[in-house]
This record gives sequence, structure tokens and C-alpha cells, in this order.
Amino acid sequence: MSKIDFYHVNYENLAASAKPAIPDKHPFRQGISWDLLMDVWAAEKNYGPHRVRGPLPTCRPSHIAIRGEQSTERHMARRKLVYEGKAKILYEGPEPGTLVQYFKDDATAFNAEKKDIIEGKGVLNNRLSEFFMTGLNTLGIPTHFIKSLNMREQLIRAVEIVPLEVIVRNYAAGTMSKRLGIEEGTALPRPIVEFCLKDDSLGDPLVSEEHIIAFNWASQQDLDDMLALALRVNDFLSGVMYGVGIRVADFKIEIGRVYEGDYQRLIIADEISPDSCRLWDLKTGEKLDKDVFRRDLGSLTDAYAEVARRLGVLPENPAPISKPTLIN
Ligand code: 5GP
Repeated sequence: MSKIDFYHVNYENLAASAKPAIPDKHPFRQGISWDLLMDVWAAEKNYGPHRVRGPLPTCRPSHIAIRGEQSTERHMARRKLVYEGKAKILYEGPEPGTLVQYFKDDATAFNAEKKDIIEGKGVLNNRLSEFFMTGLNTLGIPTHFIKSLNMREQLIRAVEIVPLEVIVRNYAAGTMSKRLGIEEGTALPRPIVEFCLKDDSLGDPLVSEEHIIAFNWASQQDLDDMLALALRVNDFLSGVMYGVGIRVADFKIEIGRVYEGDYQRLIIADEISPDSCRLWDLKTGEKLDKDVFRRDLGSLTDAYAEVARRLGVLPENPAPISKPTLIN
């Protein structure tokens, strides 16, 4: 099938695009690769064919953010909101099985008891999460990340989120220090993986593997896969960050299920950013993560920008787009 044939099939499918499972006409079922899909997607950003062919389908989100005077509200009606969380918004993507992930500037801590808007945080987290997810994809550690769309948005694969936070710890800190009385900064004898139930109303409680199996939050095979994924992410993150003089004390990841034909597999989802990691300068111990906000230690964007600068992914101007601004 040529790109142009696919292009037309693609738009017929768009009207019925909100299905979580992979429908029969989905590119996977037609043997169309994500590379080709994304070529089409990139071509679409030029907008030429749509203008010639008439109005866009109403479910089509617009992704090109521009600076300027355009009314956001007028265009927001064109994209369908799928989910809004504390730090991110998910919009329907251009194809079944895809979503657009928008990074907000909202910062929350202590189960949203502490809140603020930190201008530019979303831009930095979008770039940093893109950087980490791209690195993981390159190493064959599968993630939901498909491609960057603009300074606050990325195209991702839709997944069914496993209702567990997977935490990997290399040094004692945070709730582990509090719970077990181990001094913050103590090196752990080996990376320790913990699972917490994703439930804000319960404060995301720590759960055991027994709980996970008994209450069917994940299977034994899922648990084994999640453990392996978490440790591979830890090796990658710790190595990359060590290279720029930063210690990864701990981090949290979320994992999603994707269905490919008759198979399901687990991939890294959500985000990997200083919001979900503890990052300490190797020499000074300075905190370069959300603890800066949690503990009022200074400017959060300065800390995140320092991480981005060291990794060479600092956006030129971290705060120009405060809302998604869409064009026709
Ligand atoms: P702790 O259990 O010590 O609070 O957190 C351990 C690690 O997981 C820290 O790096 C923390 O930032 C991350 N983490 C735990 N829960 C959450 C959460 O709900 N959201 C985010 N973004 N990170 C979390």
C-alpha cells in the first residue's frame, strides 16, 4: 500500500477513532509500520492535502503550537480531551491507538495538598521525557513515546495503564527513609523495586506482590516483566545521568499494556522527568528534582533547566507557550 493510499484509508478511519482496542482497520493489522504511520503524520503537519480536500474531521486534534494572537478556545473544540491529570492532559490522537500528551505547568505534591503553577515546567518535562523515552526506545526498552509534536506535546501510544506505580530506589530517601528510618542518602545494597497502588484517595499505598496477584492488579508474568523493565530503566537512567554528574536516587515509572494482534505486552508509559525522579548532583548533593518544590528549596525551573542543560536538551525558550494554541 502506498503512502497516499494509506493516507485516504487513514482518514476514513478517523471518525471512529476512540476505541481502546486495535480495530480491524488499524495499521498494525494492515502490516503498516509505525515509521510509515509517522511519515504520514509528519506530512500531515504541512496541512496541504486537508485544505484541498475540505474540512478536517472533528475528532482530529491540531498539534501545531504557534505563538501569537489566535484564540485558543475557538480551536480547542476540535480536539477531544481523553483524560486530565495533575501534570498532563491526554487528547485523542490522529489514529486509533495514539494520544497526544500535553505537559502542564502545574506542580503538585503531598497528594495535591501543595499546588502551584511553575511557568515553563511543562516545556522542560516534555523535552526531558522525550529524551529519556527516545533513549530507552533506542535500546529496545519499549515505551509509549512516538514523536515530539511541539514544546509541550508529544504523540504517544495509547495504553491500558497498569494501576501500579513502580518505584526503583538506589539511595534511601522520601517515604522509604520515613517508613524504615533509614537516613536519606544511604546507598542501598542493590536497587530495590517497590509497587504502590495508584489510588489518590488512599495516598498511593505501598503494596506487596501478594496483594497485586490476589486483587488482580497484574499477573505474575506482568510482575516479572515489570520488574525486568524497571531494572533496565534504572540501568539506563543511572548511566546517562552519571555521565552528566547526577545521581539517580530513585524514580517512579508507570507501565501500560498494548495489544498487538493476539498478544499483549508491557511498555513504559506516562513520563520520565525530574517530577518523577530524585536527582542529586554527584559532587554537591544539590537536589535537581521535584523535592525543590516539595521542600521549598528554590527555583524548580532552574533545577530542571540545569538537568536539561547538562543533557543538552534545553529548549531555547522554556516558557513561550502557556496553553496549547492551535491553528487550522
Ligand atoms: P517516595 O515514595 O519517596 O515519595 O517517591 C519515590 C520516587 O517516586 C520519587 O522519585 C518520587 O518523585 C516518585 N514518585 C512517587 N510517587 C509519585 C507520584 O505520584 N507522582 C510522581 N510524579 N512521582 C512520584
